Amino acid sequence: MALRIFNTLSRSVQEFVPLDPAGQHVGLYCCGPTVHDFAHIGNFRTFVFADLVRRHLQAKGFAVRHVMNITDVEDKIIKRVGETKMSLRDYTAQYETAFFEDFQALGCLRPHQTPHATEHIADIIGLIEKLTARGLAYRAADGSVYFSIEKYQAGGARYGQLVNLNFEQMRPGERVASDEYAKEAVADFALWKARAESDGTVFWPSPWGEGRPGWHIECSAMSMKMLGSSFDLHLGGEDLIFPHHEDEIAQSEGAGAQEAGRPFVKYWMHGAHLLVEGKKMSKSLGNFFTLRDLLQQGFTGREIRCALLQAHYRESFNFTIEGLRGARTSLARLDECLAKLRVAAAGSTASAEDGLAAQFSAALDEDFNISGAWGAIFEWVRENNRLLAAGEATPERAAAALAAWEKIDSVLALGRVDEAALPAELQALLGERQAARKARDFKRSDAIRDELKAKGWVIEDTPKGARLKKL
Ligand SMILES: [Zn+2]
Repeated sequence: MALRIFNTLSRSVQEFVPLDPAGQHVGLYCCGPTVHDFAHIGNFRTFVFADLVRRHLQAKGFAVRHVMNITDVEDKIIKRVGETKMSLRDYTAQYETAFFEDFQALGCLRPHQTPHATEHIADIIGLIEKLTARGLAYRAADGSVYFSIEKYQAGGARYGQLVNLNFEQMRPGERVASDEYAKEAVADFALWKARAESDGTVFWPSPWGEGRPGWHIECSAMSMKMLGSSFDLHLGGEDLIFPHHEDEIAQSEGAGAQEAGRPFVKYWMHGAHLLVEGKKMSKSLGNFFTLRDLLQQGFTGREIRCALLQAHYRESFNFTIEGLRGARTSLARLDECLAKLRVAAAGSTASAEDGLAAQFSAALDEDFNISGAWGAIFEWVRENNRLLAAGEATPERAAAALAAWEKIDSVLALGRVDEAALPAELQALLGERQAARKARDFKRSDAIRDELKAKGWVIEDTPKGARLKKL
């Protein structure tokens, strides 16, 4: 079945047809983190959404190339570097490491490339030079280089493809230096920011003097370098639509690198924002959560992923501790059913198709209708529980059900059981078994193995040590 997605560019649901004439390769770019602090749960909603899109495309047989930038130079970072007196690299490296730990805890597949802005200064300068040569960028009296919206529009291009903008209030040549600004402030934006006293040691040489790139130009330069001047999918949170993504289009299409008739990006997808306990997340309201805060409260990455996957990506989502508990209960029901199916399958392999995989995929094909997908899963759990209770879950049937689950879990990524989530009693038994083996007390070690098996767990000895797997 064809995948249909809501394209912010056309403001409509469209069939997804990749630019690749063979219909095989898909380029996907998602704006990555600004590594100035620990990422919060709202940021991770976007990354889990991007992961769902990538995994579903892969499950449909597309060869996806996933690129996510790391913004490691930007206004907020420079401020913190100045305050902490650390080097830019040391400061950002700690938060980048933390980011990828969190990313992994949430079961997100690592992008194929994660370019850093500071490692692509030459590409960024090259792109600004192109814009300057085409008369779309100019150096202002403050030494910074700005993108001219007036010149861009005079050439027949449209600024305001993703949002409606009010140009009435705009005075030609009015400029905005900061990376983030409101829609009402539509004005020429900075491509290269001249070195300021407050930048400290953070600056690079350029044809326009020492300075640093603006935030928007980094995504244009790196996405086109990694994925080509035209690519299929650009994702991000809805807060990035303006100005960030609008500016990306202006810079990338302004540079004129695309073949005639091809856009910079064919489909733009935006995830809605996240509320926490019904309110906008803020430190002063006490509803500001990093992933670490939630892990410390005893929730697992898997439970948090499950909670974040409850709502449709274009709906604003109210994230609550109650909702997290709900996700925990749902996962427990699912785990119980899967454990029983594994026992019933008794090692048989599936010969027939279970309907779940097709229903799940069909739901996601409708602009990632996750509610429809969950509906199919819980109906499937009910039906399997009924069969199991009635003694009608034959090994073949159970094996087919498990095969379907494996298929959909390549997209959901909820099947793995976090070891941190193992009940303490099981952790203790596993530890005891390791000690018995070390002491060459194989009788005791075998007894513990049997005891764990009776509880539904098998021990897997891996190069990294022993771990428990659900039967
Ligand atoms: Zn970006």
